[in-house]
Formats: sequence, C-alpha cells, structure tokens
Amino acid sequence: MEPRATLHLLLHVAVPALLAWGLYRERFWRAFALMQLAWLIDLDHLLADPVYAPGRCSIGFHPLHTAPAIGVYALLALPRRTRIVGIGLLVHVALDALDCLLMRT
Ligand SMILES: [Zn+2]
Repeated sequence: MEPRATLHLLLHVAVPALLAWGLYRERFWRAFALMQLAWLIDLDHLLADPVYAPGRCSIGFHPLHTAPAIGVYALLALPRRTRIVGIGLLVHVALDALDCLLMRT
C-alpha cells in the first residue's frame, strides 16, 4: 500500500481515538466506537465504478461525501444525543479532504 493511503487509514483511527480520549475520557471506548461508525459512509463507494480508485477524491464525488451530507453531519454534531456520531462524521470528511489535498501535491 502506498504511504498516503496508509497514513489516511491510520488517521481515520488515530484522530477519533485522540478526540474520544480528550473529550469523553470516562466513556472512551463508547465514544471511540461511535466515531468509528463514520466509516459506514464509505459504503457509498460501492455505488461507484471502480469501487476504489487511489487517485480519486471522495469529497464531492460520492453521495455521502457531498456538501448536503456534510451539512447533515454538522447538524448531528449539535444535539448532545447525536454529537459523538456527528463529530466522527465531520472528522471523517475532514480527513478525506486532507487526503484530496495530499494527492494533488
Ligand atoms: Zn470517506
């Protein structure tokens, strides 16, 4: 696997772990698990052909990685009940956007 893809996968685990540790330390594993649910939005890649293309930017391409979906994730981050999932989703799209920046350099 190329270094950029490896870094991307590591960040998808490490950033939620750090946030769960920093914000929800007494419920760390629950918060971490809820944030990892954000991986589920990558199921939208199954709609694309090919399912995985290393040089393709997810943001704005896959339906659950477009602006309307990201708006919903921001709303989910507001109420306390859905906040952890919302934060996890926003972290996910932010990391995907970072990957898009890195693939252009
Ligand atoms: Zn993604």
